[in-house]
Amino acid sequence: MLSQRILNMEPSATNALFDRVAKLREAGEDIISFNVGEPDFITPDIVRDACKEALDAGKTKYAPVTGVGPLKEAICEKLWRDNQVHYDPDQICISTGAKQAVFNSLMAICDPGDEIIVPTPCWVSYVEMIKLAGGIPVLVETDEVFQLDMKKIKESLTDKTKGIIIDTPNNPTGACYNRESLLELGNLAVEHDFYIIADEVYETLIYDGNVHVCVASLGEDIYERSIVVNGLSKSHAMTGWRVGYTAAPKPVAKGIAALQSHMTSNSTTFVQWAAVEALKNGAEFIAQMHEEFERRRNYVYETVNALPGITCVKPGGAFYVMADVSSYFGKEIDGNVIKDSVDFCNYLLNEAKVAIMPGKAFWAPDTVRIAYPESMENLQEGLGRIRKALERFGI
Ligand code: GLU
Repeated sequence: MLSQRILNMEPSATNALFDRVAKLREAGEDIISFNVGEPDFITPDIVRDACKEALDAGKTKYAPVTGVGPLKEAICEKLWRDNQVHYDPDQICISTGAKQAVFNSLMAICDPGDEIIVPTPCWVSYVEMIKLAGGIPVLVETDEVFQLDMKKIKESLTDKTKGIIIDTPNNPTGACYNRESLLELGNLAVEHDFYIIADEVYETLIYDGNVHVCVASLGEDIYERSIVVNGLSKSHAMTGWRVGYTAAPKPVAKGIAALQSHMTSNSTTFVQWAAVEALKNGAEFIAQMHEEFERRRNYVYETVNALPGITCVKPGGAFYVMADVSSYFGKEIDGNVIKDSVDFCNYLLNEAKVAIMPGKAFWAPDTVRIAYPESMENLQEGLGRIRKALERFGI
C-alpha cells in the first residue's frame, strides 16, 4: 500500500511528456518536441574536457556532502561577480540539480501546515514539492503580463505563511521581475517574517538588454530571508549533469546540509570538478547561447502570436512562450471536441506531430507552453506544422 504522501502527489507532467515523446520516436514517429526545457546546445568542450580530466585523476569517490571546496568557492565568486551578493562556502550546498535544491529548501523551512505562496502560472514541481514537504501551496495568480501581483500576494498572507517561491526569469511564462517588485517583495518578507525561495536557474537568459536581479542582494534583512537556488543546467547546457545549488543564511544552510547528508550525500564528484571550469571560464559560451536564444525568442514570439486564434505575452527571458489557446476550447475537429489545453496539445501531437505542454500542468488552464531551445530549422518546421493543423479549424 502506498503512502498518503505519494497518493496525494501528481507525477511530473513535463517528465511524463518527455517520456511519451521518447517512446513515440522509438516507434519511428517523426516528432518535433517543444515540450521540454532543455538547451539544444552541447555542453562546452572545456567542461567536457575538465570532466574527463577529473575522471582520469580518480575524482570518483565520495566528496563532502555539500560539495567540493573549489566548486563552492567558484559559486561564491559567481554570486559576488554576477549578483553582488556575498556568501561564504559554508552557506552553499551543491545538489543533484536545482530541482533537489528547491526541494531541500522547502524541507528545511516547512513545518506541517505551513503555507508557501506560489505565483501562478508556475513550474509543475513546486506545488508537489511543497506538499511533499508537509506544506500547503497557496496559489496566487500573477497579473495579465505575468508579473507579481503584490496586492494579491499581500491578501494571501496569513500567520501560517512561511515562504514564497519565485522564479525569475520564469518557467513557464518567461516573465522577469524587476528590481522594484523584488524589493517590494523582499520588504514584505522582512515585515511578515517569511522566506523567499528564489529559483534563478534561467538567470543568464534575459533579453532586451535587461539584467537579472538577485533578491538576496537587495538588503541585509532581505538576505537573511532569501534562499537562492541556481544551477548549471540552463546556463551551461548541462541538464544531464545535474548540478544545482542553494545559497542560504547560515542556519538554513546547516539544515539543508543535514538533510542532504541523509538523502543523496554529495552530488556526482567528477561532475563537480567539471562545474568549476564551467563557472570560471564559461562566459563566452553563455554569451553565444544568449544571442542565439534571443533571436529564437523573437522569431517564436512573432510566429506564435500570428497563429490563428492565439495570443501571447512577449517573454522577457528563459526559453518559453506561454500562449493563450482558449479560443479553441469547445471547437470540434474530426468528430472530437477540444475541451481544454490537454486536448489541444493531444490534437497537435497526433495531427502535427509536435509536442507542447498543456498549461493545465502550470496552473494556467487557458494556455500552452512552447519551449524553444531548439534549432531554427526545427522551430520553423514545427511552427509551420502547427499552423497547418490549426488552419483546419477555420478560425
Ligand atoms: N524544468 C524543465 C521543464 O520545465 C525540465 C523538466 C522538469 O524538470 O520539469 O521543462
